Amino acid sequence: MTTLADQRIGRMEFLLNLRRRGITNAAVLRAMDEVPREHFVRAEDVDAAYSDQAMPIPCGQTISQPYVVAYMTERLAVEPTHRVLEIGTGSGYQAAVLSRIARAVTTVERYRTLADAAKIRFETLGYANITVVVGDGLEGVPEKAPFDRILVTAATETVPAALVDQLAQGGVMVLPLGAPDKVQSIVRLTRAPTELVREDFIPVRFVPLLPGRAQEL
Ligand code: SAH
Repeated sequence: MTTLADQRIGRMEFLLNLRRRGITNAAVLRAMDEVPREHFVRAEDVDAAYSDQAMPIPCGQTISQPYVVAYMTERLAVEPTHRVLEIGTGSGYQAAVLSRIARAVTTVERYRTLADAAKIRFETLGYANITVVVGDGLEGVPEKAPFDRILVTAATETVPAALVDQLAQGGVMVLPLGAPDKVQSIVRLTRAPTELVREDFIPVRFVPLLPGRAQEL
C-alpha cells in the first residue's frame, strides 16, 4: 500500500527527474506538477503513476512516458493565448497537460471508448477548456481551424496534409515521424510564409497513427 507521504515523495521525484533530464520551461513543469497522472492510468498501475514509463491503456494503446509528454510540450512552445489541436487522445493525459498552458485544446481519438473515458476524466478534474472529438485525426478538425499549435501523439511516416492546412501562419506542429514499427524522431514543423521549416529531435517509439475511426469500440 502507498501512503500519502509516499505519494508526495513520488511526485517530487517525478518533477526532479524531468528537470534532471533537461525540461526547463516553467509553464511545462507547472502543468506536469498539476495534472494527477494517477487519474489517467489503469487501476492496477496507480501506484506506479509517477514512474517515468509508458503504460498500457484500453484498446491496445499506451499512455506516453511523462518525460516524452513534457519534452513534446516544451518543443511545441505553447502560450496561454493558443488554440491547440492534439491527435491521439488516448488516456487524455497529454491533452490535460496542454490544457493547463493553452487557452483551448481540441483532441481527436479514433476509439470511442478512450474518448469517452478521457471526457469523464476532464469533467472530474474540472478541465473545461478541452473538447474531445471521436474521429479520424488524419483529417484534423477543419471546422475549428486554424490552430496555433498541433501535437500528434501517434507515429506516422508522412506528415498528414490536412494538419498542415489547419496550422496557422507561424504555427508549430510537433509529431513522431518515422516508420510506425521502428524508432521515430520527434519532429517540429514551423509554418513560415512560403515553407515548412523542419527540425529533428530525440528518438521515440509511439503506437501507429491509423486511418479512419476504429470499427470496434
Ligand atoms: N496522447 C495519449 C497517448 C497517445 S497513444 C495520452 O496522453 O495518453 C496514441 C493514440 O492515438 C491512441 O489512443 C490511438 O487510438 C490514437 N490514434 C491513432 N490513429 C488515430 C487517428 N487517425 N485519429 C485519431 N486517433 C488516432
